[in-house]
Amino acid sequence: MSTYRWSCGACGLGNEAQSSVCSECGCPSNASTEGIEKHKDPKGFEKKKAKEGYSQKLFYLFVIPIYIVIFAFNGKQESLIFLIIVVSVLVYKNLSLFKFIWSDRWAKNTTIGICFSNAVVFLIRLFLIPNNSDYVWWFTLFFMTFLTAQYFYFFKSKKGINFFIRFYNETSNTC
Ligand SMILES: [Zn+2]
Repeated sequence: MSTYRWSCGACGLGNEAQSSVCSECGCPSNASTEGIEKHKDPKGFEKKKAKEGYSQKLFYLFVIPIYIVIFAFNGKQESLIFLIIVVSVLVYKNLSLFKFIWSDRWAKNTTIGICFSNAVVFLIRLFLIPNNSDYVWWFTLFFMTFLTAQYFYFFKSKKGINFFIRFYNETSNTC
């Protein structure tokens, strides 16, 4: 409980010090920024959270081929096995997402394309650019740009946004 008058973070109404929730909209006085956002627009908040999780999981998926390449050629076999287990768990835990990607032509082709090109780019790095060469720096710069482009294409392009909306509507209706 506050000891002074406070204004509601969600609707802006001034409330008495004794009240711990807003008399207008019911938002608690001690709500966090996230809590206020959730209170204002529960559906929008849920969607935003879902999208964050979605981007994160897919980004892991996109960079996994790089680790496979590195481990396969430079690392120990045990690490490769460990990686395969991690990938299996990731896929298994997000089966509905991966199934949905597989059922969508754009998402499937783009995902395969991204994973494949990341693997190829890293094979080039391993075989054609020596570790002590000046090109390593250029490669890193190129690769960061390449990853950023992938990110924007898959998550921010019109097709990418439409795909997420389809996925979100599908999964939020079933549960
Ligand atoms: Zn309020």
